[in-house]
Amino acid sequence: MKARNAEIVGIGTELLQGALEDTNGRFLAEALHGIGIEVVYRTTVGDDRWRIREVLRQALDRAAVVVATGGLGPTEDDRTLDALADVTGRPLILHGETLKWIEERFARRRVTMPQSVRRQALVPKGALVLPNRHGTAPGLVWQKRGRLLVVLPGPPREVRPLFTEQVLPILLKGTGRGRRIRTRTIKVCGLFESQVEERIIDLLRAEPGTVGLLARAGEVHVRVTASGTAGRVGSQLDAWERKLRDRLGDAVFGVDDERLEEVVGRLLRLQGKTVAVAESCTGGLVVHRITNVPGSSEYFERGIVAYSNRAKEELLQVPSSLIEQHGAVSPEVACAMAAGVRRLAKTDLGVAVTGIAGPGGGTEAKPVGLTYIALADRQGEEWYEHRFRFAREENKLWGSQMALEAVRRSLLKTTGKK
Ligand code: ATP
Ligand code: MG
Repeated sequence: MKARNAEIVGIGTELLQGALEDTNGRFLAEALHGIGIEVVYRTTVGDDRWRIREVLRQALDRAAVVVATGGLGPTEDDRTLDALADVTGRPLILHGETLKWIEERFARRRVTMPQSVRRQALVPKGALVLPNRHGTAPGLVWQKRGRLLVVLPGPPREVRPLFTEQVLPILLKGTGRGRRIRTRTIKVCGLFESQVEERIIDLLRAEPGTVGLLARAGEVHVRVTASGTAGRVGSQLDAWERKLRDRLGDAVFGVDDERLEEVVGRLLRLQGKTVAVAESCTGGLVVHRITNVPGSSEYFERGIVAYSNRAKEELLQVPSSLIEQHGAVSPEVACAMAAGVRRLAKTDLGVAVTGIAGPGGGTEAKPVGLTYIALADRQGEEWYEHRFRFAREENKLWGSQMALEAVRRSLLKTTGKK
């Protein structure tokens, strides 16, 4: 069977107006892509029967597979069922098993069932009903002339299992000979997007569409895509990864879902080292990220948020003369913070961040975004200067990223490579 294409339809006025992020669309796009079905359109439509009908008709005209989510609920604004009846040209009938399931759900919770809920047991006659363990409204599948229309309820925690457990097997049956599209993300820290591009420009030019760049806060993602039979796709991606690591060296910190804080944690654990953190402008974000990793107590000793000058003196033993002389945002104070927290916590490493997150507080000499990171170890301190040009929260995110990167750099040095 030849490769098929798909359209994803997000139904909901909140979605249309931007009040709600379309995470279902993202999930479905990746999942379809992953089994070799190319997504050619993504459409959003409000809770309006006539418009939903129009969008679904159009989608079925131009894509072999249509997956829609939302608006299957019992309330007045849930219009998808009516539109579905129009599109399929079939009457809505009460689906006995679904009604029973819904009644049992209400009985179990000892809640009287509102009449409106019965609506969720209606299905277009002839549709395949996908039971929904995580909610009330079932998923619906309608097949006609080689086209497949899948309609799922809106909540993501219902969409994911319904799709993975019940829709994927149907799609895979029609995909034939195990054709796959897979993506791998090689994550880079410590190089700007333009620097990454420069190093791999020939690869980007030679294979347009196969390699792509994506800039994130303090990291750059290089995404490579391969397609073919399930067996070949993996080895193609491995080859790409080797090529990219070759060009980018130890600026590559991880692959796919791996986060910088996880990588740092793994290196610390591997080397049997501990770390303590002193933060000012990041307000605890570095520690938040470190402690998001399960098992971080093995290597993380403590974190101190020393926001005011007094806190830096009292909690980190930064000499007041140093602050007076150089200012709180300076290499000298950053180093004293890192050395102070390391000394007090008795850890192998101490890392510190001090900067001006903005929007106020900047001067000509010390503009908003100016941030110093210092790393203290047995041999002394080293520091890095950064000038971020973002809004407050993003500056904080970059600060935390660069602090983690400083720890990673120091750990790479001690092991030599990798
Ligand atoms: P319910 O029975 O819960 O009302 P429903 O099928 O009627 O389900 P909607 O009313 O459209 O679905 O959406 C219910 C909730 O699901 C939304 O309030 C929102 O939180 C979430 N949701 C809906 N569509 C999306 C989407 N595309 N991406 C992420 N979340 C969504
Ligand atoms: Mg609803």
